[in-house]
Amino acid sequence: MQYISTRGGIDSVPFTKAVMMGLADDGGLLLPRAIPRIGSDTYEEWKQLSYQELAFEIMSRFIDDIPEAELREIINRSYSTFDAEQVVPIVHQGPLHIMELFHGPTLAFKDIALQFLGNIFEYLLEKNDSIMNVLGATSGDTGSAAIYGVRGKERINIFILHPKGRISKVQEKQMTTVMDDNVFNIAIHGTFDDGQAIVKALFNDLDFKEQQNLGAINSINWARVLAQVVYYVHACLHISSHETDKATDFSVPTGNFGDIFAGYIAKRMLPEGTIRKLLLATNSNDILSRMVSDGDYSLGDVVATSSPSMDIQSASNFERYLYYLLDEEPGRTRQAMEHFAENGKMDLSDFQVQIQRDFTTEKASEADVDKTISNFYKEYGYIIDPHTAVGVHCALKHQKKGIPVCCLATAHPGKFGDVVEKSILKELELPQAITDLLTPGRESRCELMDADKNLIQEYVKAHAKKT
Ligand SMILES: *Cc1c(COP(=O)(O)O)cnc(C)c1O
Repeated sequence: MQYISTRGGIDSVPFTKAVMMGLADDGGLLLPRAIPRIGSDTYEEWKQLSYQELAFEIMSRFIDDIPEAELREIINRSYSTFDAEQVVPIVHQGPLHIMELFHGPTLAFKDIALQFLGNIFEYLLEKNDSIMNVLGATSGDTGSAAIYGVRGKERINIFILHPKGRISKVQEKQMTTVMDDNVFNIAIHGTFDDGQAIVKALFNDLDFKEQQNLGAINSINWARVLAQVVYYVHACLHISSHETDKATDFSVPTGNFGDIFAGYIAKRMLPEGTIRKLLLATNSNDILSRMVSDGDYSLGDVVATSSPSMDIQSASNFERYLYYLLDEEPGRTRQAMEHFAENGKMDLSDFQVQIQRDFTTEKASEADVDKTISNFYKEYGYIIDPHTAVGVHCALKHQKKGIPVCCLATAHPGKFGDVVEKSILKELELPQAITDLLTPGRESRCELMDADKNLIQEYVKAHAKKT
């Protein structure tokens, strides 16, 4: 499979090049030249497969430059760190199927992609005898999942900036208690945006980027989307063997449009009608919800909510969907994105019919989230985190009789214990992994610095992995 840019400015590249490139060199996002189609016979055969075997079947249709045995080994290793045998268990609670995506080392769904991406990076660096310095800023979940994706890897150092005192205790401890020599946590005096701006400036310094072999691990990497396609197919196979109606809807708590875009790819791969609708669930940061309901894709201010990993306005993966919406024409995509960059808005009202063929949408307010966590616990004894609650609230509003809805549970409730305990009015039983983190006196390591680009640059330079 060859990969192209949504903006059409690069020669096509194979999978391994696409992974190393991250963002396409012309500023666009990378996409497979064509989306493979899966016939009904193959789909039926897949019902026998383990999660890892299914991952291989799907990924190998997008990857033809890693030998089979090695790809299988990378997949197996990536999911051996999960504490559930099926990797992503699906449970049935009340009228909903709930897909638990939080059984990885940092208890949020980003592990599914970042465990895989870390291993792919390691494999490629080994093959090319090179090294990488990963640099990123986090508002919480991505940083820890990225650190756990590359900890202990010989050819990679990782530098993660987080805003001092502005992330949850669990999130902070998840990052700073990782004692591997290749992990560098930097707490900055400032906000997430300050950290993000410094990281962007360092990536834009092309000499620095090249000298230090800077690598990004953000949500635009195609390998992350690909790893997420797998669990949608896994869920369809599971649900269709339990339900008489074969069509499934998915409710997806959405921020950067990465997770739900993987669902869109799965929908196009699978036999017609296997996935009926993708329900785009947002909190008060509802730009994507407005896009689906009336074609208004316009930036608002970011509002802080109890589901912080979805507090996003400009969704970094949206350009990928836009490319398909604009008939796979890179010229039109580039123009639309340039227009958006200038004006902060895009009018997609002419595309409503097309958009609503694949997507539908609902929103959840802070009060809705609180009520949903509380009610779901009261009625079914099942505890959900605030991100999952956004999806569950939307699913319950949307559910039509007879069509199964699968909600993506994107984080373990213990990760957002304070919010959850206020809703269920009871102390949470925390998983061992979290209790361990919160043990007083637990060893940790973190550099506290001013939000100053030059200081951070010097620090990265001094601690960077050298060729
Ligand atoms: C990142 C994240 C999301 C949002 O996923 P996107 O791919 O950005 O849409 C939802 N829930 C949790 C817990 C997350 O960490």
